[in-house]
Amino acid sequence: MFENILGQAEACSCLRRDVERDELPGSLLFDGPPLSAKLSTALELARVLSCEREAAWNCACPQCARHRALVHQDIMLVGPKSFREELAIGARMMETAPGSASRYFFIRAARKLVRRFDADLYSGEEGRLAKALPLVRSVLEGIDACAPVETGTHTDAAAAKEASKLLGVCAKLEDMLPTATPVFQIRSMEFWARLKPYGRRKTIIIEHADRMLDASRNALLKILEEPPLHAVFVLTTSRRSAIIPTILSRVRRYRFIQRSSTDARSVIERIFKDRESTADSVASYVSAYRAASTLAIAEFARSYAAAIVAAAGTLRGFSDLPLIALAESGASVRKVIAEVVAGTSNFGGGDEASAWTFPAFLDETGAVFVRLAREKGAGLETIRTAELYAALARDALLRYSSYNLQPVALTERLADAFIYGTPTV
Ligand SMILES: [Zn+2]
Repeated sequence: MFENILGQAEACSCLRRDVERDELPGSLLFDGPPLSAKLSTALELARVLSCEREAAWNCACPQCARHRALVHQDIMLVGPKSFREELAIGARMMETAPGSASRYFFIRAARKLVRRFDADLYSGEEGRLAKALPLVRSVLEGIDACAPVETGTHTDAAAAKEASKLLGVCAKLEDMLPTATPVFQIRSMEFWARLKPYGRRKTIIIEHADRMLDASRNALLKILEEPPLHAVFVLTTSRRSAIIPTILSRVRRYRFIQRSSTDARSVIERIFKDRESTADSVASYVSAYRAASTLAIAEFARSYAAAIVAAAGTLRGFSDLPLIALAESGASVRKVIAEVVAGTSNFGGGDEASAWTFPAFLDETGAVFVRLAREKGAGLETIRTAELYAALARDALLRYSSYNLQPVALTERLADAFIYGTPTV
């Protein structure tokens, strides 16, 4: 058990020991940096707890088979998360390393998303779920088309094509996920957790347990005070200090570490099936798969730059040619900001894996002004404009990283300061 989790020997050996001695607590906290296999380990634990045999990695029992495809009835997945990069990696794997392993990788990535729309998480709130159901259905059909060779009907090439088509649908579905776990989901989860398991044990995985509103946190605390015996709760976090002590006191901590570059290399080669990459950390590898969203950000940055210049232009009256050209292409600032929010899932929606979105947006916008200053016809006015933007962007970034302010509010604030001028910068 846990053989497939690379570079987390300590956490895995503690878990193995606790399982083998039958000393596993009902509530666990997996604590470690982003992309350190916390979810993979939690899913592996769920499989181990359900297995009818010895839980070997390749166990052929029906329970393990259901877990491997992430369709087991005894698991529940809750919590915000970004799936785009993992799905993009899976779709690439299906093209460059075709076969069952790659198909499983992609299917599991898609299921991790879809399972957050399980009806059991929406009891009494079916109306919210109804809006997502058409997309859920499309994703499920796409998953079927990518089914592994043994059960599937599609050739590798056809399945890979289906997978890449599915990326857009999955992104839309992901946008419908709540950014923090709402209290109704914690209540639905509790109701579900107290029902008898289908097999031996139920596993409830709550990701980003630090990111919960008070009401949800209190509801969770109540469950952890008296957890049903047949259920195991796995909370994951990369910000343990943000979890309240009353919850911390009820969970056993398992520490996940930042992987060494050697371990990261083996994750990239063995799990992502990429021998060409030169990345030496999982984070830098995954970041390369943000290319698609980065392109979108460059587009948004240009629209934003054009909008604020257009608004400022009507107030100031530019004489520099590049500024005038940019201003003429600008739409209304509020409209552009609304488009950016919609197109970037609210600047990554507070997910740590997408925390790069807002800084990248500010950078890209800055790059627009720098290019502008190099254009023919650019004069002092363009240079001053670029400098003004750079100063405002630095201020916005500082407020974002130090005070945790919302990107959308900072984007509006920056626009106002750019257009009307402000004495605070
Ligand atoms: Zn098994």
